Amino acid sequence: MLPSIRMGVDIGGTKIAAIALDAKTGQALKQSKIATPDGYDSLLSRLSELVASYEAELGPVTFGMCYPGSVNHDSLLVQNANILWLNDKPFEQDLAKALHKVIRTGNDANCFTLSEAIDGAGCGHSVVFGATLGTGLGGGIVIDQKILVGLNKLSGEWGHVPLPWPTEREISGPECYCGLKGCLETYLSGTGLARSYRHVTGKDIRAEEVVKLANNGDAEAEAALSRYENRMARACAMIINILDPDVIVLGGGLSALKRLYTNIPKQWDQYVFSPQKIKTQLVQAQHGGESGMRGAAMLWSEPAAENP
Ligand SMILES: [Zn+2]
Repeated sequence: MLPSIRMGVDIGGTKIAAIALDAKTGQALKQSKIATPDGYDSLLSRLSELVASYEAELGPVTFGMCYPGSVNHDSLLVQNANILWLNDKPFEQDLAKALHKVIRTGNDANCFTLSEAIDGAGCGHSVVFGATLGTGLGGGIVIDQKILVGLNKLSGEWGHVPLPWPTEREISGPECYCGLKGCLETYLSGTGLARSYRHVTGKDIRAEEVVKLANNGDAEAEAALSRYENRMARACAMIINILDPDVIVLGGGLSALKRLYTNIPKQWDQYVFSPQKIKTQLVQAQHGGESGMRGAAMLWSEPAAENP
């Protein structure tokens, strides 16, 4: 019998956010934040203390976590983590040993999408595509409240596919850190919006500043936002053509921009392969920055999870 309390932890570069949810009601029973320790052994011991303190107060918990990295299929060592000292460590096995528990893990975008699908903006929908518009561009797919992980654990990674239906000027797109050019992330992340504005104006400002300028009537900033919306409409049309989700949920910094939810669907019909009005909804996430830890906790709520 599983414990009835789901603990979820979101490990970030500077802080670790934790939450405990009641498995039946989904209600948050406790949540907290601690600073991310600066070394591997101290991370394991801090996480053990954190779980022990939750269990002392609430009783036994299941443990799920998301962290900015992935596990190499063959070596089972962490790769691509931006907390550099986590790389090449058997983190998941070491943590399971330290906690004396079976643990479940998911990537940030998948946990975000699961949280929104279970009791957020995607609640009640069967097929949910979640997109995080932050420094990068993440994506996740949840079907009937279960993450579609994929054989290579790549499902939903739309950040590194090319911008569809490029205009002539977009054909040789910006260089992406992945080594290719013209990836969606180079256009649709916050960084991508700032780059697009800089490309035309020569001014190096952050995405939030571009949004502020557009709100104040600046024509170049408005043009950058319009390009952003049209590109997002094309990218979403591609997702609709392939996955045909009920709902696309946007999270991350730029998702607060209300105009996206009217301007993007208005334009995607022209790219989707259907003469009919597209019924897919584009909605803003409900849980904001809490979605990582909430989704991590919910990894144990999936109807028939295949991991561990
Ligand atoms: Zn890329």
